[in-house]
Parts: sequence; structure tokens; C-alpha cells
Amino acid sequence: MKIADNCIVFMNYTLKDDEGQTIDSNVGGEPMPYLHGGNNIVPGLEKALDGLETGGTITVAVQPEEGYGPVIPEAIQTVPKEAFGEIEDIKPGMQFQAQGPEGQVQVITIKEVTEEGILVDGNHPLAGKVLNFEVEIMEVREATPEELEHGHPHMGDGESCEH
Ligand code: ZN
Repeated sequence: MKIADNCIVFMNYTLKDDEGQTIDSNVGGEPMPYLHGGNNIVPGLEKALDGLETGGTITVAVQPEEGYGPVIPEAIQTVPKEAFGEIEDIKPGMQFQAQGPEGQVQVITIKEVTEEGILVDGNHPLAGKVLNFEVEIMEVREATPEELEHGHPHMGDGESCEH
């Protein structure tokens, strides 16, 4: 069947940056399932996969606007060292999970540690980046009513879902 809204799609994918470096890939492991039309993956990739069938392949460059969004300068700021409380040895490149203004989980990346404080970046690590995907469709099936209700795929081995 063709990929359309309310399908569960299993794919193998490789994500590369503009320099050709692999950022992420599941090739060699289990195919990754997602619910098409369920905002499980970035909009630009979902759009590109629409209408493909099992065995189909695609290479697509997803622009930041349809990926993880542009870099928001206001999300890069210096915070006092005390904001990290007990955590010692904070180094550039470290990542922490914080709660965003609407309660969502936000990844904070440490950019620089100075006398004045710690420069943090609250942008998604892939914000502002073109996402070069190579995708192979492994399986397409209809979502179950439960999957549609939850908005994500359930695996067939009876693995329980926490919702
Ligand atoms: Zn679920």
C-alpha cells in the first residue's frame, strides 16, 4: 500500500549534514516505525515520503523551516553557574534536559564556560541545518485504532505502551 495519513511506516534512514557527515542512521538495525500524519518525524521528510510504497527509496534535502526550525538567537544566553546547582565540571559540548516555557523537554547545549557564567544554547542541535535524508521504505501498514489514539506506532511483540 502507498504511504498516506494514518499508516504505520517502517523505514531505514540515514541522515547526513551538508558536509556529508552521518548524523544519525538506523541502517544495520531494526527499521524505524512512525505514524504518517502523526507529527512523529519532521514535516519535510513526512511530505517527501507521502505516496511511496514498500521498497521505495528517496533522497531528500529538508530545509530548516521544514526540519527543526531556524536557530533562535534569543535561545543562546549566558546563565549564572549557580543555575546548574550541584553539577560540577561543566564543559562545552555537554547537553542537559531542561523544561521549556510550555513544559516541553528542551535540550540545552553548553557552548562556553567563562568567568561571567555559562553560555548555553537552547536551540535544537539540528536547528538551522539542512537535513539530508536517504530513506528506504521497508513496510507500510494501516495503523490500529489504538495507535491512532496514541499518535504513535506500537510494536507487534506485545510490548506494552506507557500511555
Ligand atoms: Zn501508545
